[in-house]
Amino acid sequence: MRLCFTGSGVTRTWAVELRPQPGGPVLVCQQCPHGERRLIGSAARTEVLAHLGWHARRNLLPSHLRTCQCHERGCGWHPRHRGCQGPIRLLLIRERGGRLWRLTDACAACAAATSQAAVVPDTILAAADSPRQQANPRPRRRPRGPDSRTRVREMLNYLAVTLPTGTGAEARLMALQFALRMNDKARTRVSHGVLRSLRLGAAAHGWDELLRAGWLLPLPHRGRALEVQLLDTALLTQHPARPDRLRAADWALRAACCSRARLGPLPLLVTLCLEAHSTPGEDNGTADSELLARECGVSPSGLALTLDHLTTKHALRSWHTGPMPEDLCWTLAESVRDE
Ligand SMILES: [Zn+2]
Ligand SMILES: [Zn+2]
Ligand SMILES: [Zn+2]
Repeated sequence: MRLCFTGSGVTRTWAVELRPQPGGPVLVCQQCPHGERRLIGSAARTEVLAHLGWHARRNLLPSHLRTCQCHERGCGWHPRHRGCQGPIRLLLIRERGGRLWRLTDACAACAAATSQAAVVPDTILAAADSPRQQANPRPRRRPRGPDSRTRVREMLNYLAVTLPTGTGAEARLMALQFALRMNDKARTRVSHGVLRSLRLGAAAHGWDELLRAGWLLPLPHRGRALEVQLLDTALLTQHPARPDRLRAADWALRAACCSRARLGPLPLLVTLCLEAHSTPGEDNGTADSELLARECGVSPSGLALTLDHLTTKHALRSWHTGPMPEDLCWTLAESVRDE
């Protein structure tokens, strides 16, 4: 357990507003004195994330000095809960339907209680813990940290908050692979074999969605792979754990494809989400149904229909609503092993 204390004098919370204007949205940063900037079209969200990431990187702080900023503000960003607990991570919160974005240090309990929010997958936190790693390009790796299942779950959640709400399953499956396989320059090379495993063709509709969302730029074609530059620089400093993320990307591939049934992108993504939220070593799990729906980019009723479809395809043994109506419980027909 990590105790929060007040009055540390350290402020690690940043907020950026997207104000609609006739000539296009304007970015207004509450921390920058002359922070108003006009943005261009669909890339506005990427610019917001980049700006928040810039603030966080400029204000690196050793982990023992970081406190739950949510607690210090009276926990007004989420419904009541039983107090702060767990490690302090960077939390990205989307408010007012994507018009206000907040990046803040928050404990695991506050993070879990905040809706429309995602823990930023091991990014700036890793750099803040070990500033010397930046000077030394090849530090001795400690392959410790979250397991593949946790990494995939965190990335799905991060993408659920940062990708436009209507982003389809194809684009989400691609974005997950791109983000997990990214190098320290935010570039990714994904082989056609990986895309084929996910039943995504090179002309996949999801590709256009990611381009339109300003999430990536295609790089010149080389060989039998797709190479892209990711534009979400809040993700950029993930490189200290790249081999672990590559392992997580492979885990996601196995999890999505472990069913023998031939499934479309949405059922594949739902299967992957259920795997990521299942109890390690078991074939069952429980999770908030709205969270799952958001991670899959569908409505709760759309999620229910897909779960029924997976049951008829024998990819899912059963599913039902839990003791709390917002909980969804399931048993998978097959589950992927942790490495
Ligand atoms: Zn700013
Ligand atoms: Zn709180
Ligand atoms: Zn807290």
